[in-house]
Amino acid sequence: SENGGTFDLVILGAGSGGYAAAIRASELGMKVALIEKNKLGGTCLHVGCIPTKALLHSAEVADAARDSETFGVKADFQGIDMPGVNAYKDKVVNRMYRGLTGLIKSHGITVVEGEGRLTGPDEVTVGGAVYKGANILLATGSAPKTLGLDIDGEKVITSEQALEMQSVPASVVVLGGGVIGVEFASVYRSYGAEVTIVEALPHLLPLEDESTSKQLERAFRKRGIKYELGTPFESVKTTDSGVSVSLKGGKSLEADVLLVAIGRGPVSEGLGYEDNGVRMERGFVAVDENLHTGVGNIYAVGDLIPTLQLAHVGFAEGIYVAEQIAGLNPPAIDYDGVPRITYSEPEVASVGLTSAKAKEKGYETVELDYNLGGNGKSQILQTQGSVKVIAQKDGPVLGVHMIGSRVGELTAEGQLIYNWEALPSEVAQLVHPHPTQSEALGEAHLALAGKPLHVH
Ligand code: FAD
Repeated sequence: SENGGTFDLVILGAGSGGYAAAIRASELGMKVALIEKNKLGGTCLHVGCIPTKALLHSAEVADAARDSETFGVKADFQGIDMPGVNAYKDKVVNRMYRGLTGLIKSHGITVVEGEGRLTGPDEVTVGGAVYKGANILLATGSAPKTLGLDIDGEKVITSEQALEMQSVPASVVVLGGGVIGVEFASVYRSYGAEVTIVEALPHLLPLEDESTSKQLERAFRKRGIKYELGTPFESVKTTDSGVSVSLKGGKSLEADVLLVAIGRGPVSEGLGYEDNGVRMERGFVAVDENLHTGVGNIYAVGDLIPTLQLAHVGFAEGIYVAEQIAGLNPPAIDYDGVPRITYSEPEVASVGLTSAKAKEKGYETVELDYNLGGNGKSQILQTQGSVKVIAQKDGPVLGVHMIGSRVGELTAEGQLIYNWEALPSEVAQLVHPHPTQSEALGEAHLALAGKPLHVH
């Protein structure tokens, strides 16, 4: 519809947060307009979660082909065919995109193509058309931060260009050791590049439990991924052959490509938010515990607000706002209970508090770090790592932290344990299937309950 109209809910941005709100609101009987300037699905579907995980899966296949002799299989690994990798990745994204488009349509949601702007506390304008909403949801998401660097798209790139590489660079410096930097470092290395990660803080994945970060650093070192930790970046110069990256302290690194992965900032400028009284906090839209902005009936979700920048957080927040508007009084989202996964090789996955955070909150804790060396399935996969469980002394589990190939899937159970405030002795009662990696969770809880099985 190019003519505007009046709706129960007008949503600006159709990424994870916006489209989840649209679907839930329409389920609850609301008339919904969903405004998108680019493609339904947003960052996660088109330039985030899905395409990166496809690149990582190709990386896993490459590693398996390269190391096939470990498993007694003769294969002749001839390298990476980037057009083939990209075709596979695009096939996955396109299929999901078609599915999502059909889903949105089947809900009777009015999709508006174009760039919208908040032009009043109850309206969004797209071109000349005004969309009036009894409720408004801001969900314009985030974009890569660039530190003011000149992103030329070839020698200095962000994740968006890294997803479209036509050939594998011989060498890459990855600026930033957070989730996105670590995942791309893992991909580049499996594809055969020389990789160095530069991180200003003392550890890779600085938000994870320190013991997990240290294990990741060891695993990466073994894979030949280099890193400069606690080393702030200073500047970058492009040269004939690539880039020259200067670090504080005088060191400099030469490479074909610099991938800038220092985080993502909200897309909030020039969209009329402040003009209409919406309060901003370092560029993010400030919200209360109901995700309400404090202005009229305007709410905000996803990467635009200062909560965890994850697709599943966007989904949860979108659903929460739709239910809130419908008067269902949904329970608040427990952000500590949201699983966090880095899909590198090895994977890192966690839910709940880190050791440091548990101490900071004043808990007296007990911990058990179960080494995957004792887990049969992990030996079959030839992966190293651990499952660490932190519990309150004589109380429930406070955090689960895992590292190893494929451990991301184990967060499903870690999340239930954490969110149900289970006692280690209760989890120890659960019979885990053998041989699976989930047994490592079982073993850790058996040990915490005072009856260790496969623990020295
Ligand atoms: P977005 O998905 O950014 O959507 C915002 C939408 O608003 C966009 O479609 C944009 O075009 C539109 N828009 C903006 N301004 C306007 C306007 N004025 N008018 C109309 N439309 C507008 N998260 C995970 O949980 N798991 C992962 O594995 C994962 N991997 C990632 C990998 C990468 C490389 C990146 C970059 C991110 C990854 N994320 C991952 C994060 C995830 O993509 C985001 O948290 C999620 O997309 C946020 O959803 P959102 O709806 O807030 O914003």
